[in-house]
Amino acid sequence: MVAMPDSSPGSPLPEGGTVRPITRWGADVMHRVQEPVTEFDEALETLVADMVATMYAAEGVGLAACQIGVDRQVFVFDCPDETGTSYRGVVCNPVVYLPEGKERRLDDDDEGCLSYPGAFVPCPRPDFAEVVGQGLDGSAVRHSGTGLLARCLQHESDHCHGTVFGDRLPRRAFKKLQKQHDAAAAEFPEGWPATAPPAESALVHD
Ligand SMILES: [Zn+2]
Repeated sequence: MVAMPDSSPGSPLPEGGTVRPITRWGADVMHRVQEPVTEFDEALETLVADMVATMYAAEGVGLAACQIGVDRQVFVFDCPDETGTSYRGVVCNPVVYLPEGKERRLDDDDEGCLSYPGAFVPCPRPDFAEVVGQGLDGSAVRHSGTGLLARCLQHESDHCHGTVFGDRLPRRAFKKLQKQHDAAAAEFPEGWPATAPPAESALVHD
């Protein structure tokens, strides 16, 4: 993934983090409502920097804390909208607002998840989303977008609430997803995208 220039819209993402192994669907932490973020401290900044490093290493457009095994409601994104402009940001304690009534149009583009890698199927979702929450310093943030960005904001907020996109798929689509995932398993060995297995110290916190 090409690094975004500093002028790209949205809030800057912390750098210098460590690439961590990605947690997969099936791990308990992925399937429960995450703990809200209440302390906007250095530990949060370190966690978010690791999430950013891991997202880029995995060539993703978004990543939630539970995807590196941490039970906190926070996600990062660096994702293009329907015009191709990339937006980036950090959202703690996200709440999503979606269009209703006549404003609500579904987009059924393909969706995939770094925690179920190598598989993509269409997943209908509203074509616009707005998310409000808090930034790294605890101040209020609001992000909205169209296209892949709308999908990403919904997908990552879902992670913070224990929902994976497989939960939103009809049975047949889920089976198709499962087949692709299983066929690609060798490309995504345990520990991916970290190059070395996690040190023991990395396993004990959170
Ligand atoms: Zn995901």
